[in-house]
Amino acid sequence: MTSANTSRLRVAICGAGIGGLTFALALSRYPDIDIEIYESARALTEVGAGIGIFPRPWKVIKMLGLEADLLKVTETQVIDGPVSGFRYRKSDQCEGEHIFTLVTQGSLMLFHRADYQQTILNHLPKRCHTHCSKRLRSYTQRQSGPIELFFEDGTTASCDVLVGADGVKSVVRAGVLNEKAQWARSEGRFKEAAEILQHVEPVWSGATAYRALIPTQKLQAIAPDHQVLYTPGVQYLGKGGYILAYRISGGKFINFVAFVIQHHLENTKFNGPWMTNVDTGAFASTFAHWEPDVQALVACVEKPMQWAIHTVLPMQSFVSGKVALLGDAAHSMTPHQGSGAGQAIEDACILATVLGHPSTNRTNVAQRALRVFDSIRCPFAYKVMEVSRANGRHFTLLDESGVVDIDKLPQKQQREYLQRLSRSIIQNWEWAWTSSIDKPLHDAINMMESSL
Ligand SMILES: Cc1cc2nc3c(=O)[nH]c(=O)nc-3n(C[C@H](O)[C@H](O)[C@H](O)COP(=O)(O)OP(=O)(O)OC[C@H]3O[C@@H](n4cnc5c(N)ncnc54)[C@H](O)[C@@H]3O)c2cc1C
Repeated sequence: MTSANTSRLRVAICGAGIGGLTFALALSRYPDIDIEIYESARALTEVGAGIGIFPRPWKVIKMLGLEADLLKVTETQVIDGPVSGFRYRKSDQCEGEHIFTLVTQGSLMLFHRADYQQTILNHLPKRCHTHCSKRLRSYTQRQSGPIELFFEDGTTASCDVLVGADGVKSVVRAGVLNEKAQWARSEGRFKEAAEILQHVEPVWSGATAYRALIPTQKLQAIAPDHQVLYTPGVQYLGKGGYILAYRISGGKFINFVAFVIQHHLENTKFNGPWMTNVDTGAFASTFAHWEPDVQALVACVEKPMQWAIHTVLPMQSFVSGKVALLGDAAHSMTPHQGSGAGQAIEDACILATVLGHPSTNRTNVAQRALRVFDSIRCPFAYKVMEVSRANGRHFTLLDESGVVDIDKLPQKQQREYLQRLSRSIIQNWEWAWTSSIDKPLHDAINMMESSL
């Protein structure tokens, strides 16, 4: 970062989830940048659940120097070549059938979220100041001068660049979109202004997730031969939903997620709390007639957390002036590729690289660094969002047409249909291990240098 025209660049990060913290760590490699993190929660905590990181974002983790410590809190081994990962089964029948095993190039790294978060916090230098109980209410930015931040507790702060990492209900996204709509209105583009504002509120994906951690011993006691105990993980597919289960925390727990999916309700409003504790009865009936492996898992679940899965309708840009969005604030997607956090990690890497580039300063940051970030990350993240949606449909045994009822097909055609679905699932997912963060990273640096 250049000191020409300016003194140190002051970056404020709103939200200390996986996206905000990873970004803070990536940015802390540039000593000329001041970093303040504002988090609404009273303390930094993560949801009691697992998280998978695919090879592409894992490279960012390695670049940030987190690998050695993260390997201490996972059973997963780093393998660079082909790795047999999750098994996929058709399970909505008395006797389930194996469909395929996902083979990735490089391991899918599995963690407890709290372990992942704690590892980042352990690496975060003291000069990244984290302020808890600071809920951003709004911000203002002008042509020149600092951005003013207004918090719910009545306090204010200022910064040169604001990064909204404040999740799916992002206040910063609302600010960015309101600014854009206001400009459009001021130029008489009223239809465009109305269209822009449609992206402020998240929409329900039609999917509801039921998450729980199962003590591995509990499953062992009732089903000693259960596949989840001796494979990297299993995804049980069927009409109307699916279940994913894999071991985390050195094998101590099983991360369990059951999805009940009503595709016809996609992009509607969810009535009720988005997140709440429920009884197993809230989802068990969907899986009542499924194979015995599923019954054993469901029997072990206690007090699951229900999440109504919301997404953000794709926007034209993640940036407005000196304000940028990252992670779920920018591209909240369905979790059917386990890639929302991975995409936040990639945002963090590219955004930190362009902000930390030696040519970036307060005067040019909006025109150069943030535009480069936007042009690289916005199209890619939305592509991932699209394929994640497609896989969510395949996991409920629907193909692109969405009209085939697999159970009405003769047995041979059922087999062929499942093979077609598996090929499509793999193709949709391949980007996560066949492409690398290296290219966008080099592109970002080249764009920064060619715009000098
Ligand atoms: C069931 C399920 C399974 C998933 N599995 C995976 C997986 O395996 N792999 C993967 O890559 N992704 C997965 N995801 C997606 C992943 O969890 C999210 O994409 C990721 O956690 C988003 O991180 P974030 O930092 O952008 O947002 P968040 O984690 O939502 O963090 C936002 C932070 O901002 C704070 N905040 C909010 N508003 C304000 C405000 N006004 N002022 C200040 N602070 C504020 C919040 O308190 C929070 O700490 C899964 C999601 C679900 C629902």
